Amino acid sequence: MSQHLSAAQLSLLEAALLQRQRELQSELQTHLGGQDRVEHAREQLLQDVDGERAHDADREVDLARSDMTLDALRQVKQALQHLAGHSYGLCIECGQAIAFERLQHSPEVTRCISCQSAAEGYAGSAQRHSL
Ligand SMILES: [Zn+2]
Repeated sequence: MSQHLSAAQLSLLEAALLQRQRELQSELQTHLGGQDRVEHAREQLLQDVDGERAHDADREVDLARSDMTLDALRQVKQALQHLAGHSYGLCIECGQAIAFERLQHSPEVTRCISCQSAAEGYAGSAQRHSL
């Protein structure tokens, strides 16, 4: 098992990941007001029964935002698992080593730049229906 990162670099990145995890968790807590996510959505649905469209849009944004936080949190946890399993810093798509500079900038990344931009490129064009 090859590891291109030094122990010092790894512990730096681990600290960054743990910090990020804490931030995301508290963001999620604040956002949902300590409520269970499903409960939160259900309550808002009940409030919207009279068909106030403006509230619909608010709810969409609300849920989309917590989805993004949850996704980010999932990614951070996955990276921490990789770290524990000594596969951290390797692209999950092609297995290539991800540069330390890239990990330092966003320690939760699990793909190298080319695989990441390929994945984002597809998602982006599907969403925009253009290019
Ligand atoms: Zn790759």
